[in-house]
Amino acid sequence: MMENEVYDLLIIGSGPAGLGAAVYAVRAGLKAAVVDRSPVSGGQVLSTYEVDNYLGLPGMSGGDLSERFREHADRLGAAFITADVRGIEQSGGQQAVYTVHTDQSDLRTRTVILATGASHSPLGVPGEKELSGMGVSYCATCDGAFYRRRTVAVVGGGDVAVEDAIFLAGICKKVWLIHRRDQLRAADSLQKKLFALGNVEVRWDSEVKEILGSETVEGVRVRNNKSGEESQLDVEGVFIAVGIVPDTDIFRDLVEMDEKGYVMADETCATSGRGIFAAGDIRKKALRQIITAVADGANAVHSAQAYLSSQKM
Ligand code: NAP
Repeated sequence: MMENEVYDLLIIGSGPAGLGAAVYAVRAGLKAAVVDRSPVSGGQVLSTYEVDNYLGLPGMSGGDLSERFREHADRLGAAFITADVRGIEQSGGQQAVYTVHTDQSDLRTRTVILATGASHSPLGVPGEKELSGMGVSYCATCDGAFYRRRTVAVVGGGDVAVEDAIFLAGICKKVWLIHRRDQLRAADSLQKKLFALGNVEVRWDSEVKEILGSETVEGVRVRNNKSGEESQLDVEGVFIAVGIVPDTDIFRDLVEMDEKGYVMADETCATSGRGIFAAGDIRKKALRQIITAVADGANAVHSAQAYLSSQKM
């Protein structure tokens, strides 16, 4: 691209939604590029141990699946720019043109697909920040190996918490799964795998109130929600998996969001901003999965194409 040239479409983020969009954008013949701060594509999938529900590719590791997605986009000739997006500004009147400010340069485009995904939510208890990286982790596949034959705790009851507990059970001596209710939110298939393991014990109706330790994690203080009873579990690692928060802060003034920061957009992925589309985990929707993120990528390109055609008339 020449400087001052205007893209048809810039896709921000290279997780499944961004890569799905990249494939559809190339095939639509759009002058498009994917912008991501990391040269390694995949987003949250990269830190998933095993993905068992992506159609046609059962049992793949998150790393391998991400690589396949990226290879597919590369093979079709998708363009990638490694840069950290700092903000997006509208310049231009009737025919909106956006300037995407990055730490490298400014890029100009007629349409944008926001596909920045989500990050882990903090638990927000004493000891969490202080011991982060010293026993407190948000990624079992990244840090699990440090806890070989040790006792660890996983906090949460969703797909990620249960996947993490299953993964860690294969490495650690014992895994405590601490969940605030008496029922897990995770998929049944994951629960079946979990309950078949001999070295995982669930602490039901329980919340972690404090992570203990002076230099590294030594334990967690847990409170039973029903009885009010408090106890201490001796663990050397705490894996926090209590949900996600969308990475949408820099788009606050650009598009309408709900109170949690998810971008308001229906299945067309069209947002309140003209020519701005939202795809993947950042979009307000009922089901956040790899397959729904990829589908969003395709829908967002379809909508961007329709928008671009309407602008030419
Ligand atoms: P999630 O489904 O939102 O689950 C978060 C869990 O953390 C819930 O069990 C919740 O408890 C608990 N929690 C939230 N705040 C808490 C707090 N302050 N203290 C204690 N516990 C707290 O999040 P996720 O597991 O990270 O998954 C994120 C998204 O990715 C989901 O949509 C999930 O379906 C999807 N995903 C899918 C797969 C798959 O299909 N294989 C794999 C990974 C992720 P409650 O249950 O009481 O609310």
